[in-house]
Amino acid sequence: MNEKKEILVAKIENGTVIDHITAGRALAVLKILNITGKEKNRVSILINADSKKMIKKDIIKVEERELSADEVSLISLISLDATVNIVKGYEIVKKTKLTLPKRVKGLLRCNSHTCISNQDPEATPTFNVIESKPLKLSCVYCRTYLYEEDVLYQILGEKQ
Ligand SMILES: [Zn+2]
Repeated sequence: MNEKKEILVAKIENGTVIDHITAGRALAVLKILNITGKEKNRVSILINADSKKMIKKDIIKVEERELSADEVSLISLISLDATVNIVKGYEIVKKTKLTLPKRVKGLLRCNSHTCISNQDPEATPTFNVIESKPLKLSCVYCRTYLYEEDVLYQILGEKQ
C-alpha cells in the first residue's frame, strides 16, 4: 500500500491521536472523552480503517487536547490495543501503549443495587481488574463482577 493511499485523515499540528482502537469502539471512546460535537476544537474520526496489525481499526484525532489519566484508564478497559500519541508541531512526541489499571476508582458503578457503593455517597465505587481478555472486574465491596458489556453499557448508556 503506498503512502498516499494510507493517509485518509490529515496529520494534526497539536493534540492527541488515539490509534488502533478496536473496530467499532470509536463512538464509545468519544463518549469517554465527552466529545459531543459542540466543542470548538477539530476532531477526526475514522471507523473501520485498514490496519497492518489488526484487520480493521478505528482512529480518533483530537486537536488541542490531551487525555486525563481517568480517560486513558477507561479507554484501556474497552480497547486495550489502542495507542495514545501526543502530537506537537505535527510530530509524535509521546507514544503510549495502553496497559490495564489494577484498580478502577470512581469511574464505573456496581451492578448490585444493594452494594454499599450504591447506598453510601462516601463509598467510592472501586473495582479490581482481575482478567483482561475477556475483561472482568470485581467490586471491592461486594465482589459483584463487571464484564466488558457492562462497562460498554455504562459508557454508552445503551445495551450492546
Ligand atoms: Zn459492589
